[in-house]
Amino acid sequence: MSDLLETAHPGADVLAAFEGATGFMPVDEGLALYAAAVTAARRTGLPVLEIGTYCGRSAILLAGAARETGTVALTVDHHRGSEEQQPGWEYHDPELVDPQVGLMDTLPRFRRALHAAGLEEHVVALVGRSPQIAALWGGRLGLVFIDGGHTDEHATGDYEGWVPHLAPEGLLVVHDVFPDPADGGQAPYRVYLRALAEGFEEISVTGSLRVLRRTAG
Ligand code: SAH
Ligand code: MG
Repeated sequence: MSDLLETAHPGADVLAAFEGATGFMPVDEGLALYAAAVTAARRTGLPVLEIGTYCGRSAILLAGAARETGTVALTVDHHRGSEEQQPGWEYHDPELVDPQVGLMDTLPRFRRALHAAGLEEHVVALVGRSPQIAALWGGRLGLVFIDGGHTDEHATGDYEGWVPHLAPEGLLVVHDVFPDPADGGQAPYRVYLRALAEGFEEISVTGSLRVLRRTAG
């Protein structure tokens, strides 16, 4: 099945920037995301889009893939953090609170990371709520990477909002897919199951990262 994805590997500069960035993506999953993005961009010639920028860790890989293939990486986030990243929750990082506003703001760290990686010109950052942006989006996409909020409301909203913009030859990637509830929340897994029921098939599995394409039929 892996021949359905190109064996693309990020250069040392992109890999180092990714590994140095704050975020929630292991290296093996990142490499699979990069290969999916290069494959999708080459196949469609269209931009790749991520929901869930956070501090830009996975966005750096998408930016590298966009640079490699001559397209652009779009990344969507309101930058106020997901539920589990709020004060008092498991994934809260107090350094990411804007002291003037008293709310999370991951945009500055994301922009610094992208700048340091030399990848700014390959990324368009869309700051806002995913369903709002999806509702007014007009362009076709080569890849949709769902890595935003982990509640059913958010994960479903990302799927319903963005998959209609995915080109027929495009790829859908879902992060944090945990079939066993002991390993993590189930909303991304439910989105993944829904995609399989609605005309997608799996072409690669790396940890919790699943790459899907539309079935031929
Ligand atoms: N891809 C990142 C991790 C993303 S964490 C990495 O590689 O590290 C999830 C992000 O989704 C958070 O930054 C949060 O602010 C964002 N998010 C959650 N729900 C959202 C929504 N409805 N619209 C936009 N962004 C959302
Ligand atoms: Mg994730």
